[in-house]
Amino acid sequence: MERLWAPWRLSYLTGSTPPERDQNCFLCLAARIENLASFSPENLVVATSNDILVILNRFPYSSGHLLISPKRHVASVEDLNRTESLALMTQLQIATRALRMAFHPDGFNVGINLGQIAGAGVPGHLHVHIVPRWNGDHNFMPVTGGTRVMPILLEDSWSKIHAAFMAIRDSEPLA
Ligand SMILES: [Zn+2]
Repeated sequence: MERLWAPWRLSYLTGSTPPERDQNCFLCLAARIENLASFSPENLVVATSNDILVILNRFPYSSGHLLISPKRHVASVEDLNRTESLALMTQLQIATRALRMAFHPDGFNVGINLGQIAGAGVPGHLHVHIVPRWNGDHNFMPVTGGTRVMPILLEDSWSKIHAAFMAIRDSEPLA
């Protein structure tokens, strides 16, 4: 059997994992909100699982723009353990389904910016963007920031997405 030599995995074996939390990081702060009843339009958390946080982006590219992140404060995909990797993809599946239910988009942009140079707004804490898209919205994704008119308010987005996540939780499991 061939073995991969993977020194970066040593931290898991020795238990010296990267810092779990950064108190200046909004994703870490949001990840502390574990209780379903505490999710709200103020904190924008729509769902969590053991290892993953799903939160509405406060500065969305389009209505329903979500961020899906590990609860641990890790910077890159290589820092995820296998459980977190699987859980992240599972939450991406659920989020896609929830956004379809809530907003009936025609498509999605899904992406990760790794590092400040690549445009990561929170470079220390990995997060996947999922942005619903509609036919005819092609000028919705400016590369540089700017004022965008959001068709619906953040609070309304939160309510619709949160309701969709709740409905999915109570329905059949994903394939
Ligand atoms: Zn963090």
